[in-house]
Amino acid sequence: MFPQIKIPKIWLSYDKILIESYISDFSNEDYLKFKNSEEVKKFNLLLEKISPNLLKNISKLSGIRWCRKEIPIYLVPDIPKKSFAHPLVLILKGGLERRFLVLAHELVHVNFIADGDRFFIGENKEKRMDLPNIEAICWLISKLALQKTVGDDWFKYEEEWKEILNWDKSENTKKEIEELERSWDFNKMNFKKFLKTRKP
Ligand SMILES: [Zn+2]
Repeated sequence: MFPQIKIPKIWLSYDKILIESYISDFSNEDYLKFKNSEEVKKFNLLLEKISPNLLKNISKLSGIRWCRKEIPIYLVPDIPKKSFAHPLVLILKGGLERRFLVLAHELVHVNFIADGDRFFIGENKEKRMDLPNIEAICWLISKLALQKTVGDDWFKYEEEWKEILNWDKSENTKKEIEELERSWDFNKMNFKKFLKTRKP
């Protein structure tokens, strides 16, 4: 039996000052154009549709409940920078699959530092030593959560996935994701439980 999963409210947010910190000549006009653009509308429609299940699936897979009540997602137009989780800043790169894959990845980071759960952060130093690469875990959980949420029909992740792995540029991350995929049976147990079963 799964207890009812409480999920945070997420929504798209825009901060002109934040965008200006990346793009210095970003005018009011650019700002309005970006906010009202078709690509942002399209992204928002899909976000509203899938985010409740996506958030539930992330929590089911990780084994960590959501502690945040609200997660604004600050959108930034495509620039040569990476998205990050705290606060959640999403750079709108690539197609829809890429955007949702990166968004899910950042959401997994947010889920992991849920302040009610100290499993993944500093306080528990011994366990932390044992942790695989956090980026590898986040990528794997984000991919699985999206597959569970939208299914393979919509989520043609293969190409995106390869690109993401190359983009991350770390051989280690790639290897650790493959190793995790082999050893973690996510249908049987969530990631938190899986970690406890790993031999030191
Ligand atoms: Zn990351």
